[in-house]
Amino acid sequence: MADVRNWQLGRTMGYPYPESHPERQFAFVFNINRCIACQTCSMACKSTWTFSKGQESMWWNNVETKPYGGYPRHWDVKVLELLDEANSTAGVEPSWQPTTAADREAPYGSYDGMTIFEAAAAETPPVRQAVGYQPAQDEWSAPNIFEDVPHPGRPAPGSLGLEQDGAQLPEHVAWFFYLQRLCNHCTYPACLAACPRKAIYKRPEDGIVLIDQARCRGYRKCVEACPYKKSMYRPTTRVSEKCVACYPRIEGHDPLSDGMPMETRCMSACPGKIRLQGLVALDADGSWADDPQNPIVFMVRHEKVALPLYPQFGTEPNGFYIPPRWAPRDYLVQMFGPGVDEALARYRAPSRELLAVLQLFRATQKIIFRFEIEEGPKVFETEIDGKPWSMYDDTVIGLDQKGREVVRVKVEEPIHQRPAPRVNSI
Ligand code: SF4
Ligand code: SF4
Repeated sequence: MADVRNWQLGRTMGYPYPESHPERQFAFVFNINRCIACQTCSMACKSTWTFSKGQESMWWNNVETKPYGGYPRHWDVKVLELLDEANSTAGVEPSWQPTTAADREAPYGSYDGMTIFEAAAAETPPVRQAVGYQPAQDEWSAPNIFEDVPHPGRPAPGSLGLEQDGAQLPEHVAWFFYLQRLCNHCTYPACLAACPRKAIYKRPEDGIVLIDQARCRGYRKCVEACPYKKSMYRPTTRVSEKCVACYPRIEGHDPLSDGMPMETRCMSACPGKIRLQGLVALDADGSWADDPQNPIVFMVRHEKVALPLYPQFGTEPNGFYIPPRWAPRDYLVQMFGPGVDEALARYRAPSRELLAVLQLFRATQKIIFRFEIEEGPKVFETEIDGKPWSMYDDTVIGLDQKGREVVRVKVEEPIHQRPAPRVNSI
């Protein structure tokens, strides 16, 4: 195993291949607080890529209801159990430690538990590249099982189901939230590491992880190794398939693209406006270039309002989530790591710049490479958590790869007045 740097874990970790990084990385931010589980994203993906024979149970994009839902069923609980087992065999009690490393190197502290790669290396004899499991056929059969089923909690008699706890936000005692999932086009993909045919590769131009359909022999090692269970087997072709990040759109081949990179179908279709996708420039050592005017970099690295999903798995996923405000903190911390409190504090009382950037979600299908803000007047003030907070009607401008303006949105939604009613001619 080679030593590679994982900034999400704040340390180096073992990975089967030495570091090799693309020029830029496909990445996205999802705002869980806004999702309405309409499944438009799931259908946009299915009707584009997985509508054929043999793909009936294949959902490259799915939206599941936590805590009970999962596609395939209980995928995360099962992977977490495997890691728990490995850590306890090795006598490790995993935790996140504060660190003195620069914030850019360890923004969430340092994780001392074993990743899926390290757990596999600790097995005797070591026979695989990552710990994982093969879901049974029926676990793929109901992608939205437990949709809208809440964790019941135990509301106090006479309470409305809300609890207030000092530093924390009000939490619903009975709660659920929607988790939107697709391949994370990981920096250290487990699917790629596990493939004995070397059929999986990460594109040097955008970090998209693809399976070469001609090289794949359907051994399903990627299905077993991917902790997010986003590599899937197709029985009719006897090879595995996965999200391709709508690469023709990223390459600017969509008829509406004007040659510029466009967001994927699942991102573009979202009526809840929860999704923003981008391409992040990388330095030679693979770390994110410090580009605070890129909306993804701004939200993930500067504001730290969006967090990786299960960073402890160790693949350095490139999907980031603004956590839901109403779910129990300990549940969120095991899912998104120790940055949850800070992320929610920043989302609840957003900075002037963050509030503007949040307006860019789903404002255009073109990928926004940079944003600019034109300042507007103060339109509202209040107190949040005992501190004064003001809202300004700023205008945020999104620029494409060539620095051309592709969208302009104001913080205050404009009021459109309908013309005088016309008589219906029918
Ligand atoms: S389309 Fe958007 S709002 Fe609808 S389920 Fe998907 S992520 Fe949620
Ligand atoms: S999410 Fe899974 S399939 Fe996607 S790149 Fe990561 S390990 Fe591979």
